Amino acid sequence: ALAQLFEAQKLDTIGQLTGGVAHDFNNLLMAVLGSLELLEKRMDPEDARARRLVDNAVQGARRGAALTQRLLAFARRQELRPETAAVAGLVEGMRELLERALGPSVRLAAAFPPDLPPIRIDVNQFELALLNLAVNARDAMPGGGAITLDGSTAADGPDLPPGAYVRIRVADTGAGMDEATLAKATEPFFTTKGPGKGTGLGLSMVQGLMAQSGGALRLSSVPGRGTTVDLWLPATPALAAPALAPAPPEPRFAA
Ligand code: ADP
Repeated sequence: ALAQLFEAQKLDTIGQLTGGVAHDFNNLLMAVLGSLELLEKRMDPEDARARRLVDNAVQGARRGAALTQRLLAFARRQELRPETAAVAGLVEGMRELLERALGPSVRLAAAFPPDLPPIRIDVNQFELALLNLAVNARDAMPGGGAITLDGSTAADGPDLPPGAYVRIRVADTGAGMDEATLAKATEPFFTTKGPGKGTGLGLSMVQGLMAQSGGALRLSSVPGRGTTVDLWLPATPALAAPALAPAPPEPRFAA
């Protein structure tokens, strides 16, 4: 199941990147087509050879535009479906999966205050994000260690407007990152894990999810001591009637 999840996540991230590139590329092609049409109008109608060349260019650009439309349709499947969810319940529902991913030498501790407000997030994507962070932490602790998850409320976050947020902190006791690695860690395709081991898409996907969800991500790290990943997500006002409180999610990952 883990391997499938990673495949799903790779596809998600590729989908997001594809969507962005396809969109920009489509805009460029539209500009090219516009220029070609103007050129066509100003051309010598007797010059059949030039006309054929421009026709070819127009057809090529049209085919390219049709292709970007298909890519955009593919990327749009990645639209987020935010739900109201309690972080503690989400993490509890994933505990087994997380423990399996971390292996026997990494201890997992999670503590969330009972009055922590629920967050607005696409639950599936959020679970993938947490799994990514856990796997990164594991990879940074080959000799074992601990990963700690906790949450608190925050009135702001990095580059976020003032508001009500939940800050989720994922801290490990691993190798940490030097400054150069830390600066590049969230870039798509940046990895220090070597071919076949890392895709370099994990943190960029998590950061993308935070940004699209109205939140933020910040990394801090001390080489030799460990890494802390802070996630900010918009909090939703706690629901008044207990009957309306969000139910803890079903574990989504079958063994
Ligand atoms: P990948 O895990 O495939 O390499 P990521 O985008 O998740 O891709 O991470 C990029 C890089 O950031 C990693 O290769 C690693 O060098 C560094 N990194 C990420 N998380 C941690 C962590 N918890 N501790 C130390 N280094 C980390």
